[in-house]
Amino acid sequence: MEANLLDLDAEGLTRFVADLGEKPFRARQLLRWIHRFGETDFARMSDIARSLREKLHQRAHVVPPQVISDGVSADGTRKWLLDVGKGNAIETVFIPESARGTLCISTQAGCALACRFCSTGKQGFNRNLTVAEIVGQLWIANRALGAAPDSRLDNGGFAIGERTGGHDRLASGDRVVSNVVLMGMGEPLLNLDNVVPALRLMLDDNAYGLSRRRVTVSTSGIVPMIDALAEQCPVALAVSLHAPNDELRDRLMPINRKYPLRELVAACARYLKKAPRDFITFEYVMLDGVNDGEVHARQLIELAGTVPCKINLIPFNPFPNSEFVRSPREAIRRFNERLNAAGIVTTTRRTRGEDIDAACGQLAGRVQERTHRVKIARAA
Ligand code: SAH
Ligand code: SF4
Repeated sequence: MEANLLDLDAEGLTRFVADLGEKPFRARQLLRWIHRFGETDFARMSDIARSLREKLHQRAHVVPPQVISDGVSADGTRKWLLDVGKGNAIETVFIPESARGTLCISTQAGCALACRFCSTGKQGFNRNLTVAEIVGQLWIANRALGAAPDSRLDNGGFAIGERTGGHDRLASGDRVVSNVVLMGMGEPLLNLDNVVPALRLMLDDNAYGLSRRRVTVSTSGIVPMIDALAEQCPVALAVSLHAPNDELRDRLMPINRKYPLRELVAACARYLKKAPRDFITFEYVMLDGVNDGEVHARQLIELAGTVPCKINLIPFNPFPNSEFVRSPREAIRRFNERLNAAGIVTTTRRTRGEDIDAACGQLAGRVQERTHRVKIARAA
């Protein structure tokens, strides 16, 4: 069977080339071609010996997910819909800002955790994404955004170190995608076996070379897996809190019944010993009349006092049949101010990409409906 080299991090590729009787530096060359330059054709990997290129041609391929559609919002947010087979689609969103470009990546098709305010959660779980499908989202975005130079423009006869223009720009750290957040569809910590190699590729200097501080995993709070992430690949951590007490969090996020707040906060404190940043980001979705009152602010201040953290308020983004309403702007401002006044660094996330259904929590809801309708139409 042909191996998809997009599935392999440095360690995996080194093992793969060793099985072909090759030295480890071949793995580094392959990483650069595949990830830095976005090359999929072994024939164009000019500094790799012809005999190895032929072996690769027979045993391997480089296959990113298929792009189904690609849309740009009025505010510049860009969204790709990617086919992951069997009628499943996932979404990737690029959010350009003045000083950085953030790519929001999915880790599962659907999600099993059924948070009540989340469109992905309402769909149920389909399957875990592969390493190639996770890191492939960055691969695709880099190419589409012009960061990975199209090697078809090259005549191919030179070594990587001699490359110029766009290549240098990438190597120098002036990246179009400067930050990655695992905040798309799915729970990253329930797909850790594939998320970790994908993270390692994002950090690898021969691949994307992103800083650990600029790669963020967002989790609903899978306590043992927070410890596992700290061991295997510590990056910045965001935790979806959304409620300041167990009673409310149990209702909004069923996972809280398994890992209640006290255990979650303790896991956050343990994580910080290994983390590249000295705080956890707590995400808090603002639901009108549900978690946005003065009493909630007070409880949240108390909770936030128990672990070094910053709070990010997210205005709720509605989706078809969602049972909640976004807190009014004034309520969000007041809540934010209360927390700040108590000395807790708090920001409110600007909503981006709403017109193309690319805002937090809206991903793939409508697509799923469409896919479902197509299936019904076909069956009829
Ligand atoms: N499963 C992970 C990561 C994906 S969700 C997690 O839950 O953290 C990314 C973020 O979007 C989470 O903070 C999630 O709670 C939030 N979110 C989900 N639905 C939302 C909605 N409708 N409006 C605003 N934010 C939402
Ligand atoms: Fe899953 Fe995160 Fe949505 Fe909850 S908020 S259902 S964990 S994707």
